[in-house]
Amino acid sequence: MWGRPLYPVLLAGCAALVCWPVLGTQGALAVLGVALVGLLLHHLRNLSHLYRWSQRPQLETLPTGTGAWEYLSSHLLRMLKQQRATETRLGEALSRFQLAGAALPDAVVILDTSGRIEWCNPRAEEYFGLDNRRDTGQQITYIVRNPQFVEYLSANTGEPLVLKVLRREGEMMLAVQQVPYGGNRRLVLGRDITRWERLETTRRDFVANVSHELRTPLTVVGGFLETLEDMDKPDPEMTRRALELMRQQTSRMTRLVEDLLTLSRLESTQNPLREEDVDVPEMLRALYQDAQVLSGGRHRIRIALDSGEWLKGSTEELRSAFGNLISNAVRYTPERGEIEIRWGVRDGHLTFSVQDTGIGIEPQHIDRLTERFYRVDRSRSRETGGTGLGLAIVKHVLSRHNARLDIRSTPGKGSTFSSVFPDTRRVSASHPLSAGASA
Ligand code: ADP
Repeated sequence: MWGRPLYPVLLAGCAALVCWPVLGTQGALAVLGVALVGLLLHHLRNLSHLYRWSQRPQLETLPTGTGAWEYLSSHLLRMLKQQRATETRLGEALSRFQLAGAALPDAVVILDTSGRIEWCNPRAEEYFGLDNRRDTGQQITYIVRNPQFVEYLSANTGEPLVLKVLRREGEMMLAVQQVPYGGNRRLVLGRDITRWERLETTRRDFVANVSHELRTPLTVVGGFLETLEDMDKPDPEMTRRALELMRQQTSRMTRLVEDLLTLSRLESTQNPLREEDVDVPEMLRALYQDAQVLSGGRHRIRIALDSGEWLKGSTEELRSAFGNLISNAVRYTPERGEIEIRWGVRDGHLTFSVQDTGIGIEPQHIDRLTERFYRVDRSRSRETGGTGLGLAIVKHVLSRHNARLDIRSTPGKGSTFSSVFPDTRRVSASHPLSAGASA
């Protein structure tokens, strides 16, 4: 570094010494002075170039410099190139981090040591109502003012907090957790657990419903057993009646348990759908006979097999679904009512339907009928031996067969329950037994 700037000074000194014998002392000093002023002007010029460049330093406009300045310029150029490479690397890492943050399914907020927002991802903007640009540097508790949230942050606990948040789309359950890191900094995480909470509520309701359904028959059976035990001399007629009622209650419990097992089998992921060729017309003829027995001559039941087509699916499951729809029609249709069982193509789709002239259903109940234990008239369902699970089973079976349940009903006039199957469920029309068969 020292050699380069000193070299021209030494050169000027040497020139003055050479001139000394010829020009004398004054002449030599004049040569030295001119050379030094020239050098000074050269440095001032380079310095002013560098100063001007430093006002807007850019790699492309860096002055090349002359003499010792050339060396300084090349050194600066190297440094600037390294800096630019580091900046590019950091920029790429930052944009990767931001992309990852934006892709996270959960909300993330980074707080500094005094609880001010340093950064948040789009999910956090959505869940906590933040704005990354506007709110950076603000205290999070000034923006998210929910008292539970404010208390949770000040308590400094690691346990998650469940918050009910009102949003335009409806209510959301948010699990919030703060995680300390890097000294006194904190990460605030938020996860949408609405679906999970809903499932949990459904599960709790289901257990409560099952217990309730079992308690009534158990109480009846228990009561009769106690009475019989307390009797010194059992009255044969009363004993017979008690046994008959106990039998009814136990068969009700058996039906309930069987329906519960069917539902759990249908829901099990370990139980894939059996893909058999199902002879629907034959199955419906058998179900028609069962319906006659169940009705005991109280209804006029007809069967219309407009198509002989078969279905691809599980014989057992389809029998259970169709059987449930037919038995509902019998159970919810008063004496002398009419019931029609139909299999055919409707609007281009294979459709199984049961139409009755029964009590019908008010429109507000229709969407909820397939929920477990949902009944319009609880006592009528019980009187006729219903478990409240029939239509839930139908819905599951149909959804496993990619079919849909269509319910039309007019209170006091009757209902039509239709199962509409997609074309993918048709057994090819060339099936030897399916072509042209009819009842
Ligand atoms: P349940 O065992 O009570 O019959 P389901 O799940 O089969 O249970 O049916 C749910 C409710 O739907 C019934 O309680 C009844 O109120 C109503 N429902 C079902 N089918 C009919 C029908 N064909 N006519 C009138 N109401 C019906």
